[in-house]
Amino acid sequence: ATPTAVTVGVGRGAELGILIRNGEALETAEKVTTVIFDKTGTLTKGKPEVTDLVATGVTRETLLSLAASVEKNSAHPLAQAVVRAAEQRHVALEPAEKFDTIGGRGVMAEVLGEPVIVGNRALMQDRGIAVPADLEARISAFEQDGKTVVLVASSGGLAGAIAIADTLKETSTEAVRRFKAHGLSTLMVTGDNPRTAEAIARMVGIDRVVAGVLPDQKAAEVKALQAKGEVVAFVGDGINDAPALAHADVGIAIGSGTDVALESGEIVLVRDDLLDAVAALELSKKVMGRIR
Ligand code: ADP
Ligand code: MG
Repeated sequence: ATPTAVTVGVGRGAELGILIRNGEALETAEKVTTVIFDKTGTLTKGKPEVTDLVATGVTRETLLSLAASVEKNSAHPLAQAVVRAAEQRHVALEPAEKFDTIGGRGVMAEVLGEPVIVGNRALMQDRGIAVPADLEARISAFEQDGKTVVLVASSGGLAGAIAIADTLKETSTEAVRRFKAHGLSTLMVTGDNPRTAEAIARMVGIDRVVAGVLPDQKAAEVKALQAKGEVVAFVGDGINDAPALAHADVGIAIGSGTDVALESGEIVLVRDDLLDAVAALELSKKVMGRIR
C-alpha cells in the first residue's frame, strides 16, 4: 500500500505547481545522483532571436530571404527565429518546393527552382560545401558567446551564416547551483554544437556536456549512466527528449513543453521553473525521511 506520507507529498507538490504523476517518482527522486538537462527550452527560454547576419557573395537580404523561404516550412525554434527576422526586416519570402528535414542537422528545399540548404556544419560537410576560414573564425566567435549558427547554401555555394541567440531562464543558474549543493552531478545533452553547448553550460555552471547528439541519442546517454550505477533524473521539453524522459529514473517535463514530453515525464513542472525541479527533490527527501 502507498504510505500516507507519499500521498501527502504528491498533494503538497500539486500546491507548489509540481505535478507528480506517480508516487514512485517521489520515492525515487531523493536517490538521484545525476541530473541531465536538455538545453533549448529547458535551461534557455526556447525563444531564440537572430542577432547577426554574415553574407558571403550575396546581400544580407538575399541571405535572409533564402533561409526564411525554406525555414517557413519548419516548426523548429531556430526556423521560427529566422522567419521572424525576415518579417521584422520586411524581407520578402519566395515559395519553396520539395521541402525536406534532415533530423538534427537542418532543412532543405528548392527556392525559385534552386536548391537551398539551411543547417549546421555537419550538414554542409555532408553536402560537400566548404566553409572558408575567415567565416569559420566568425562562426567560432558567435558560438563562444553561446549563439547557435545556421549556415545557408544555394547552388552558388555558401551564402552566409545566421547567428541566433537564446536567453537563459532567470532561475537556471540558481537551480543548477542548488542541485550541486545537494551533491548531484550535472550534465547537459543537446543537439546543438559543442562550442555553443559548452558556452551555455559554463554560464549556468553545468559540469559536463554531450553535444551534437542526434534525436534519440539522449536516451542512450541516460542508459549509459544508469549502467554505471547512477540514478538519473532527466529534465526536458522537446519531442527529442521523450525517450530520455521515459528511460530516466525520474523524468521531469517542462510544463510548456511538447505533448509527447509531458506524457513521458513522471513529474511535470507547471511553472517551467527549474527551481521547482529542485523543490521536487527536496520534497522527496522530506517525505521519505518521514516514512523511515
Ligand atoms: P536541439 O533541440 O537540442 O537543438 P535538434 O536535434 O532539434 O536539437 O537540432 C540540432 C541542430 O540541428 C540544431 O542546433 C541546428 O544546428 C540543426 N537544425 C535542426 N533543425 C534546423 C532547422 N530547421 N534549421 C536550421 N538548423 C536546424
Ligand atoms: Mg528543448
